[in-house]
Amino acid sequence: MTLFYSHDPVRPGSLSGTPADPLQQSLFSRPPHTRIEVDLSAIARNIQVVKQHCRPGTKLLAVVKANAYGHGAVHVANTALAWGADFLGVARISEAVQLLEAGIRSPMLVFGDVWPLQAVHGQAHGIRITLTSLSSARAVSAVALSHGCTVTAHIKIDTGMGRLGLCAGVNMDRTMADLEAIMQLENLAIEGIYTHFANADAKDKTHTDQQLALFSQVLGRLAEKNLVPDIVHAANSAATLEIPDSHFTMVRPGISLYGLCPGPGIDCTDLTPALSILSRIIQLKQVPKGFAVSYGSTHITDRATTIATIPVGYADGYSRLFSAKAHMLVKGQRAKVVGRVCMDFTMIDVGHILDAGLGDEVVILGSRGSDTISADELAKLANTINYEIVAGLTSRMPVFYRQPPHHHIPESHVSQQPSHDVNQEVHGHDN
Ligand SMILES: *Cc1c(COP(=O)(O)O)cnc(C)c1O
Repeated sequence: MTLFYSHDPVRPGSLSGTPADPLQQSLFSRPPHTRIEVDLSAIARNIQVVKQHCRPGTKLLAVVKANAYGHGAVHVANTALAWGADFLGVARISEAVQLLEAGIRSPMLVFGDVWPLQAVHGQAHGIRITLTSLSSARAVSAVALSHGCTVTAHIKIDTGMGRLGLCAGVNMDRTMADLEAIMQLENLAIEGIYTHFANADAKDKTHTDQQLALFSQVLGRLAEKNLVPDIVHAANSAATLEIPDSHFTMVRPGISLYGLCPGPGIDCTDLTPALSILSRIIQLKQVPKGFAVSYGSTHITDRATTIATIPVGYADGYSRLFSAKAHMLVKGQRAKVVGRVCMDFTMIDVGHILDAGLGDEVVILGSRGSDTISADELAKLANTINYEIVAGLTSRMPVFYRQPPHHHIPESHVSQQPSHDVNQEVHGHDN
């Protein structure tokens, strides 16, 4: 198993202008205590699982927005493409630019808004934009015309998400008229049409069925005029896994690629979570009964115990809502967070883990032995969903990768950090 260090917020050479600065050299000579580890082979496996749910020939758009849900967009995108993704999906054009800068060449669809000029400039790089109204399409068409180029776009139909797109459910005739008008605009190539489900993860599929029916009605009316674009897509992860009728010619899974379940009612047994958060105990204190821990002194020990300090905090994306609730794994045993999570540190009670020692590894998210701290478990504590747990991780935590077998990641995508210590660091872990 190969591991490599992908990125660090501090770049060698940025301190003194020379890569030889000893402080910076030493920064990279050992991995930091608190870090994310991503198993790219799990992502490869999840892609295969998702593909097995689709008819052969169905295109796959891998959603890598928000830094691939916190997993690191560049390496996830490379892995997805190596395992057969046809498209990459992002929310912002800056996310597409980040992939381009890393040398990734693949069709990319931006879900969100872009300025017309950005659409024109993105065209040369394979960026497809989303058109959500006739007026925005007109603006893009005009700028494309003045630059003498054609912008490739997908049209978004709002069938019940209430977010972006032409509102088919409010006025179908108007939607059809606008659609046809967009298709007739100059210097636009309409490659795709899509919609997005609001409730595909719910057990009750009534609303999703209604959305699907509305979308099919739009497609039917386009078909009468032979205007259906080449690529028709609707399915997020939940719909990809559960609603084959929603697959059309392309599926758009995100969360499932990362091995996380889009909702409680969905069978995700074949998916493998790819992300772990690891750290180490940086201080251990034997304390008496009545000892106060962290801001506000909200935790007072009810017995003599041992408190361990872990260098992870809400600035890393470890929510303050985990205060006095979450657990971490030390030597395969659960230790509870005591007192408030700080910006940079969190304390846990390890009084019951007799052999806990300074420098011991701590699993903040992930598995060790037979126990797991899942993104779903943390999500419940913070009254949110697993999506927010991983997408909310910040760039202060560097990401380490496990390389999938049979996949060569181009040299240019691997940063120049020393790797021997990294291998040593993670040697013996297996999750
Ligand atoms: C985020 C997103 C997806 C992926 O949704 P998951 O539930 O993560 O699979 C698909 N399509 C659009 C438009 C999105 O914004």
